[in-house]
Amino acid sequence: MPESTPRTTLVTTKSALREHRAAMDGTVAAVLTMGSLHAGHLALVERARELADHVILTDFVNPLQFGPGEDYEAYPRDLEADLALVDGLVDLVFAPGVEEMYPGGTPRVWVRTGEMGSVLEGTSRPGHFDGVATVVTKLLSLVRPDHAYFGQKDAQQVAILRRVVSDLDLPVDIVSAPIVRAADGVAESSRNARLSAAEREQAVALSQALFALQDGASREKAEAQLASSPGVTVDYLTVVDPATLEPVDAQHRPALALVAAHVGPVRLIDNLVLEA
Ligand code: AMP
Repeated sequence: MPESTPRTTLVTTKSALREHRAAMDGTVAAVLTMGSLHAGHLALVERARELADHVILTDFVNPLQFGPGEDYEAYPRDLEADLALVDGLVDLVFAPGVEEMYPGGTPRVWVRTGEMGSVLEGTSRPGHFDGVATVVTKLLSLVRPDHAYFGQKDAQQVAILRRVVSDLDLPVDIVSAPIVRAADGVAESSRNARLSAAEREQAVALSQALFALQDGASREKAEAQLASSPGVTVDYLTVVDPATLEPVDAQHRPALALVAAHVGPVRLIDNLVLEA
């Protein structure tokens, strides 16, 4: 008899998740996502499979991390497509509804991220990282993984979550995986699905600005070039110390270059570690 691939189980309640988790022997890796899965998420799944005996993927668009006027309602959702993509690759998909995650409505107690959460993305998205830190703490507590995988695509998020885990003594190992890019350099993102073909071409300017910095351009020159790109409205292009997230000179190495810009209906982010 040919061996059949074990299918992925979908659970939508915390109690079902806990039951399946309790039955797992060996190590467990978690990949936390907001769904609308793409190659970037699958790369995290691949890495998780290499390291752990079991992989649990969470698929939840977390309202806490969206500010007023952000794209919570418009955020793409397609659970069926997500399940088809990861079927047989992960043991379990946990896709709770908002009521299941926050039965009493918005929680009264949040994880506060302070200074680390108020710079960079936090400047234009106040409260965003408190929402991320709160849901990630809940999901880690529910899934109880040995390892949790996050993408370097969200560099500030990874830096903050490492700090959440160390400051709150959460028993999990945070692993970050490199950014997955399309052939033209654009970072894979669920939000790219909302770009027209023309806007998708315009989005190339973000990663080009980062590569210009890597090649030695000044921050001012790279920003001016990005600002003059058709269809692009720059939010920030900055170079920081990778550990402290404090601004450094563009020639400083190693450094982390980060960009955020609006293209068409979406706000895109990208970053690049500038090596010596
Ligand atoms: P999201 O569903 O956008 O919240 O992303 C879930 C996880 O996938 C986060 O850890 C992201 O950093 C990661 N991720 C998203 N896009 C990419 C990408 N292009 N490359 C690598 N990881 C990614």
